[in-house]
Amino acid sequence: MFLYKKELVKFCHKVYENKFVAATDGNLSLRLPDGNILITPSGKNKGDVAIEDLIIISESGEKVNGTGKPSSENKIHLLIYQNRPDINAVVHCHPVYASVLSITKNLFELPVLPEVILTLGKVPLCEYGTPSTEELPNSMKPYVKKSNAFLLKNHGAVTTGKNIEEAYFRMEKLEHAAQILFTAFGGGKINTLTGSELEKLMAAAKDSYGIDIPFGYK
Ligand SMILES: [Zn+2]
Repeated sequence: MFLYKKELVKFCHKVYENKFVAATDGNLSLRLPDGNILITPSGKNKGDVAIEDLIIISESGEKVNGTGKPSSENKIHLLIYQNRPDINAVVHCHPVYASVLSITKNLFELPVLPEVILTLGKVPLCEYGTPSTEELPNSMKPYVKKSNAFLLKNHGAVTTGKNIEEAYFRMEKLEHAAQILFTAFGGGKINTLTGSELEKLMAAAKDSYGIDIPFGYK
């Protein structure tokens, strides 16, 4: 168990050092040999995550062990583990260039870089879903059985792997390729959230994050 925890902490620190996340963004998990999931806690900077912060949940989402609250995006992780017996690790981040493509144009649809085609395939852009709600895993359902990398519209990216190193490398590769594609093609029109998407986000602010409606959105 200690080795699995040590490994997850190592990659938490890597995603922060590489600026794939800011503040308390992002969440990482891996599947333990007994079938339970080791996952990062909610509200913790990934650069500061320590072994004692990690939480164990069951494949259906109940907390098994740990003192904090599991990541609010644990539903994304559970969807992947429930649908992919071949996958044992999930990384969710907000890397800058991958996130830019998620709000403008999914340039991964274009066959451009041969090594990216071979390793990531045609990375899908999942429909927008309110963070922390079932909308987010639902938006990934059409692709979950086929793809190992996902762009989440107006949000960020998810990658998976047979182990945490592979899931992390896919995130690194996705961001590197996104930077190349964006530099070559530039951005397009920015997609902004609709009125009803904003309303749902404000509901989630209270229900999932326990925060007041932010300045300017009251
Ligand atoms: Zn996120």
